[in-house]
Amino acid sequence: MFDKILVANRGEIALRVIRAAREMGIRSVAVHSTADADAMHVRMADETVCIGPPASSESYLSIPAIIAACEVTGAQAVHPGYGFLSENANFVQIVEDHDLTFIGPSAEHIRIMGDKITAKDTMKALGVPCVPGSEGGIADVAEAKALCAEIGYPVIVKATAGGGGRGMKVARDEGELERAFLTARSEAKAAFGNDEVYIEKYLTTPRHIEVQVFGDGKGRAVHLGERDCSLQRRHQKVLEEAPGPCITDEERARIGAICADACANIDYRGAGTIEFLYENGEFFFIEMNTRLQVEHPVTEAIFGVDLVREQIRVAEGLPMSFTQDELVINGHAIEVRINAEKLPDFAPRPGTITQFHAPGGLGVRMDSALYDGYRIPPYYDSLIAKLIVHGADRDTALRRLARALGELIVDGVDTTVPLFHALLQEEDIRSGNYNIHWLEHWLETNLRE
Ligand code: ADP
Repeated sequence: MFDKILVANRGEIALRVIRAAREMGIRSVAVHSTADADAMHVRMADETVCIGPPASSESYLSIPAIIAACEVTGAQAVHPGYGFLSENANFVQIVEDHDLTFIGPSAEHIRIMGDKITAKDTMKALGVPCVPGSEGGIADVAEAKALCAEIGYPVIVKATAGGGGRGMKVARDEGELERAFLTARSEAKAAFGNDEVYIEKYLTTPRHIEVQVFGDGKGRAVHLGERDCSLQRRHQKVLEEAPGPCITDEERARIGAICADACANIDYRGAGTIEFLYENGEFFFIEMNTRLQVEHPVTEAIFGVDLVREQIRVAEGLPMSFTQDELVINGHAIEVRINAEKLPDFAPRPGTITQFHAPGGLGVRMDSALYDGYRIPPYYDSLIAKLIVHGADRDTALRRLARALGELIVDGVDTTVPLFHALLQEEDIRSGNYNIHWLEHWLETNLRE
């Protein structure tokens, strides 16, 4: 059993891990930049180490500083949270070379899934349905044209090293292909230092459905259903729910089993998310995230499990504490991401929180690192809180969300809370009738002043 783990992250996700550790009787070490000396994760951890100046590259992304913090404090394991070093295979290797445990998948699995072409090839070989497209990278415009003539337009050119919605360009017909291809390639080169691109059929009205998987690293794996994360702005998720409003029990069982089998087959360890686009009753794999996701609480709510506790358990070599048969869905959960941003442009608004009041009551969970007087530093992500509601069914969850948003007070900075009040008035949101483009269209017509 670990005595002490180091949390290589900040904000609400650092608190999330510290809380799970404390419930397991494990001491926690928070690392922080100088800008985060007063942050909640620093206040809540058992021990703290300042690892550098505000810039992430010199603190939360500094591998030597984090390894040194483990050595100084005697932490035996590292939980990376999401973002920062969570999907950095090199970091995992270095952690393990120092006889520490990485709470997450193997470096090899992170490497495979971090390269989208390799990820797609791997998943295809494991029997996971993929978006039709190129086999591997595309060398030049002529090859791109030949392929697209075969698969048909529209198509999307994507960077194999891509992430965060960057390095993707759509071509509606052959006339747009050359430009899309060259732009995607140069963006990929600039953003990721790797200009390899591949091509997929562009699905016009899909939903984003992702399957939560969990493996013990020894050939056993389960799925924990899906989340619908179709409400996106610039490919960034805004609201997530589970189960997916349009997914039937049969579809869940089928795609879930495919995903769990794929993970069992490769001895996948820990939490992972297999992302699909879903259109006309079909699932198409787009990528796998080898970490805990921001939106994991909706899955925890409907299955009544603690995914972080589970991650720590399997990292210690313990078995998972549930079997597939024991994982039964109870009700419906919705999460909204509250960012310190000003509408309608979603411009980041760091500042001082003058008053903070978290909603409570039955079925309400608030994951945030806010407190009265907290100064949000300007250096990091603008996510400041996640509000998660759980109810017996989708309608109850929606009413609970409206009620909880009404109780929430975040004064001193602009937030995305008004967006959710407005969305809850929309018939399409109430009925669950939306796809990945719905929010962008809605923002264009409703939020322009
Ligand atoms: P990233 O790693 O940058 O997030 P993804 O491959 O996960 O990239 O794609 C992000 C988003 O881009 C998806 O959620 C979807 O909205 C859109 N997208 C990606 N591939 C396609 C496709 N083949 N057809 C339509 N939309 C796509």
